[in-house]
Amino acid sequence: MKNIITYIVIAICLISSIWIGINNNKEEKSNYSPSKKELKLRELNNINKKIDYFQDKNLDRYIAYKKKNKQLKIKDVIKRVNIGLDKPYYTATQKTPYQNKDYILVNKYIYMDENYIPNNLEDLEPSYSRSGMKLVKTAKTALEEMINAAKSEGYPIRVMSSYRSYHYQVSLYNKYVENDGKEAADTYSARPGYSEHQTGLCIDIDDGVINYTNFENSKSFKWMQENAYKYGFILRYPKDKTEITGYTYESWHYRYVGKEIASYIKKNNITFDEYYVMFIENKN
Ligand SMILES: [Zn+2]
Repeated sequence: MKNIITYIVIAICLISSIWIGINNNKEEKSNYSPSKKELKLRELNNINKKIDYFQDKNLDRYIAYKKKNKQLKIKDVIKRVNIGLDKPYYTATQKTPYQNKDYILVNKYIYMDENYIPNNLEDLEPSYSRSGMKLVKTAKTALEEMINAAKSEGYPIRVMSSYRSYHYQVSLYNKYVENDGKEAADTYSARPGYSEHQTGLCIDIDDGVINYTNFENSKSFKWMQENAYKYGFILRYPKDKTEITGYTYESWHYRYVGKEIASYIKKNNITFDEYYVMFIENKN
């Protein structure tokens, strides 16, 4: 009898402690309210835990951009806002923090100083380029290797434009504005300071026969599509990426970024603008 009473007492104690436990839990849950920031992060599927290019300071911009662009994956929302694409071109601009690096990014949000002239500019050879063309030494070496490889396989490549100074871009841009108006000029020409040609790391090419604006229709273009990355060059303004690059398709414009970056960009089918906000910005 005594044993039975003891068992009953123990049982009552156990049941009541479990009951209290459950109720306490309920209370904790019902009292918990997530912060505004947590709610916003939930809206972005807590992607901040999965990618390291998430920037806290852009949180509200991510949310706003996502609402306007429901078809985009959250990762793409993050990348595009980091690039600055939620704001009109040539607004919220900043000067590039880098000089004389293969990974300098110049676009409609990042510009180069009007006094910036890259180090180690070298003349290109008349055998494969128009006269007076210059390129940064590392890019020139890679270019010559690429042109020789293409030539030996039967695909001629000629350089029509390369390094352009700030002041040259001023006269070029002004001429376009005079002819077509500012709005139209902005769709195909960079404003001074915003031209990638000032980096001394990019080239406009043709095959020596077809006009460079039709380079897409040449066999040499096809060769470049398959091989440029092996020499550290990328097609900078692809046909299906105009929303991201801010430039209309340019089959003739190639940018030297080095073999490692070029291979990643080619393999993952992204733009250099995306690569920059994913791996370079805020990391050096
Ligand atoms: Zn160009």
